[in-house]
Amino acid sequence: MFVKSLGIMALVGAATLLAPLSQAASLSAQEQAELKQLKDVTLNSDLSYRLIESLTTEVGNRMMGTPGDEKAVRWAQDKMKELGFDKVWTEEITDELWIRGEAEAKIVSPYPQKMVVLALGGSVGTPEKGITAPVAHFATLDDLKAAKPGSLDGKIAFVSYRMERHIDGKGYGPAVGTRVIGASIAAEKGALALIMRSVGTDNNRTAHTGLMRYKDGVKQIPAAALSNPDADLLVNQLKRGKPVNFHLKMSSSRETELVTSANVIGEITGSEKPEEMVVIGAHLDSWDVGTGALDDGLGIGMVLSAAHYIGKLPKRPKRTIRVILFAAEETGLLGAKDYVKRHKNDMKQHMIGAEWDFGSGRIYQMNPGVGASALNGVRELAGYLAPLGVSLAPDNDARAQSDMGLLSDAGMPSINFSPDGMAYFDYHHTENDTLDKVNAEDLKQTTAVYTMFSYFAAQSGIDFRK
Ligand SMILES: [Zn+2]
Repeated sequence: MFVKSLGIMALVGAATLLAPLSQAASLSAQEQAELKQLKDVTLNSDLSYRLIESLTTEVGNRMMGTPGDEKAVRWAQDKMKELGFDKVWTEEITDELWIRGEAEAKIVSPYPQKMVVLALGGSVGTPEKGITAPVAHFATLDDLKAAKPGSLDGKIAFVSYRMERHIDGKGYGPAVGTRVIGASIAAEKGALALIMRSVGTDNNRTAHTGLMRYKDGVKQIPAAALSNPDADLLVNQLKRGKPVNFHLKMSSSRETELVTSANVIGEITGSEKPEEMVVIGAHLDSWDVGTGALDDGLGIGMVLSAAHYIGKLPKRPKRTIRVILFAAEETGLLGAKDYVKRHKNDMKQHMIGAEWDFGSGRIYQMNPGVGASALNGVRELAGYLAPLGVSLAPDNDARAQSDMGLLSDAGMPSINFSPDGMAYFDYHHTENDTLDKVNAEDLKQTTAVYTMFSYFAAQSGIDFRK
């Protein structure tokens, strides 16, 4: 009920939202002045940008098991120390190594053309000489699911579903299923390989990689994404009604060798209730293409910056600010899974958390997932953020982004900040995810929002579970 009335209030606007707070603000006038100071400093700072520049320049891409990942773990610890964190440590994880290898693809007939292709993360390779076979075309994953067992014997399955562009990225969900489970569905029908239109909204000749999984007990077949213009070209050849022969060759492999990575964790220790934590995070790993500037260098820059500026205040806030840079998000949320297990007994001290894993773009909305009485505090925060163009979402149902979603599932109250995500999936998981895509001005706004949220949650002492 309360959620619904909040929704109505959100529609009425920030002035109304603020009205009851004059009696009940949880920050004192001095604390509000400090919050304002943090806003001014971060809106004028390029620290987040410089951190992303450093990570993309000195480390580059950093998939678990690659030398870049090892470098990133060291980079993150060094930066936290340089930025004045009170404590910095790592928590190790291990996983089996996946090697991308090389991938090449072409239409063999009726009209030979070279295709731009990337193996999906976790895929097996083809035999050494590749696979050459006729293409069986499906417009959607559901169409592939509906194919009869045996109907794809000796064929390459192709799903041409086109991801839709939306400000909140909601086109990703309907598109990503093919990537994640398409290969096993195709294999169940007898296919030799799966190819798909990339999960992305661009028309660049760059393919989008991303994690795929095999179903237990189903033959493991190679899976790859075509660049979107190449997927369109393949559709156009198929439209002519003649059989289309396709060649795919990939040297990807899944190894039994174990590799190690680590969550890198740092804290600005609270002055009154150090055991109570406000948690902000991003993922440290990236895919092994591009330089991981948007995904998730941007989040790393923001959360390191937020903690740094709060740490520079004359006095530490009441609660601890914990920054978690998660390992191996892309290859299966491995760092987050380990974190939740390892911190099972202190999860109650995680008072509230927010991750950033949604690229560039200004934040336009804040969506809480907190206890009903904490909504008053959330409205107070919304009042402070409103001048930055951030409105309060009508619902109180947020699950944090990416890694931190697992902490939400474990009972941590959460806040989700929604940015303008129109362009994010143009670059996501591609060679094109590079520093030039980071909008330095928008980054100041997102950094200011994360800094203000972190300070507010740490200093106000609100119990976000209630
Ligand atoms: Zn990401």
